[in-house]
Amino acid sequence: MKATPAPAPLGLKKSFGYGDRLGLATPGHLAVHRRFDFAPVFAQQSIREMTRTNRTPAEVMEAARGALRQAGYTEAWGADADHLKTMDDVRRTSDAGFCFFTIDPSDHVENRADHLGESERAAAVRALDEDRVFGDFDWRSDYAGKTFEIEEERFRFSKTEVERAAVKYGRAIAHTAAMAAGIADIRAGKAFELEVSVDETDTPTSPLEHLFFGLELKRRDVKVVSLAPRFVGEFEKGIDYRGDLEEFEQALRRHAAIARHCGPYKISIHSGSDKFSIYPAIGRICGDLLHVKTAGTGYLEALRCVLRTDPVLFAEIAAYCGGCFTTDKASYHISTTEGEVRALLAPAPAAETEHRFLNERVGRQLLHVTFGSVLTKGMDARGRPFKEAILDVLRREVDLHHELLARHFNKHLAALSAG
Ligand SMILES: [Zn+2]
Repeated sequence: MKATPAPAPLGLKKSFGYGDRLGLATPGHLAVHRRFDFAPVFAQQSIREMTRTNRTPAEVMEAARGALRQAGYTEAWGADADHLKTMDDVRRTSDAGFCFFTIDPSDHVENRADHLGESERAAAVRALDEDRVFGDFDWRSDYAGKTFEIEEERFRFSKTEVERAAVKYGRAIAHTAAMAAGIADIRAGKAFELEVSVDETDTPTSPLEHLFFGLELKRRDVKVVSLAPRFVGEFEKGIDYRGDLEEFEQALRRHAAIARHCGPYKISIHSGSDKFSIYPAIGRICGDLLHVKTAGTGYLEALRCVLRTDPVLFAEIAAYCGGCFTTDKASYHISTTEGEVRALLAPAPAAETEHRFLNERVGRQLLHVTFGSVLTKGMDARGRPFKEAILDVLRREVDLHHELLARHFNKHLAALSAG
């Protein structure tokens, strides 16, 4: 019998990343994976999520690998060390077997670039030169005034636009290149692939800025398999896309053309859970050059399983989340307010609980952002850690848990395949 292989780079094939915060979800992911033609990333966790859940890269890897072995899985699969900010993050995840490294240079993105006045921008440009961010490369004359014909479109940088792109992303590009070189050293001949993600920044990445980023990666010989721009509109956690669908589609079409031109590499959609209204367009426009990352909403399906089988435990968890919401929401992009959470936690008919907490925005976002507190600090009325109590439910209700996960991700992959 063939053995389950180690995770490996998946290359330029459309792919889907399943994050698993509890370590019991892979069988559900596997069930849905088999119905579609996306290459699977079964181990996918950001350093932030691992820190919040007190899990090590090795634990995340073993949860996926163990489940795949048990299921007799013998095909290719990927393992994504997501949102890496330091070389230490790379070392730890590489040691654990991860081979898809998502470089997150967002700390080096100048978010104010879009709003700087002329003299401020000039000062920022001078600083780029002083710090030799572009080395000896004469980036201004190479881009300003030049027209790039990409498929049916023409992209042209004005002097202001190229300066703005350089100020916004120049240091992030240099950081990405440095990390890419460091990763190649650490891997020392072992296969790997790279993504670069700037999705967690304040302002959208315009197609022109993406072109600047992509051309600069190419010039510096940094090969990425995917790039995650920050898109127009709101990609909030746990809910559908909020924004103008037509505007999104138009921007995506240009981003995809640029990705084909500069790479080719895939467009990576982060915070990709539950974005049902834009999935058909994403699938249609990107084709094979697509990677989608979902994380966290599988956890919500685990809580749905808890709610259906142990409503008392669920009520304790929900009340606890109410207490952590203000602190925990700080690092997330959500629109739910404290007032809305208070209203949600007010007494209501039990028959409505699942809908209110797990189908609607306020409940989903409350449960989504508080996962770290629930899984590492929260305890039930008898002083038992919530994590243990939740895992017990999931081990007892295996079929329901896997069925909920499969149904949830089936909706995602079916919509992505519907375009
Ligand atoms: Zn992201």
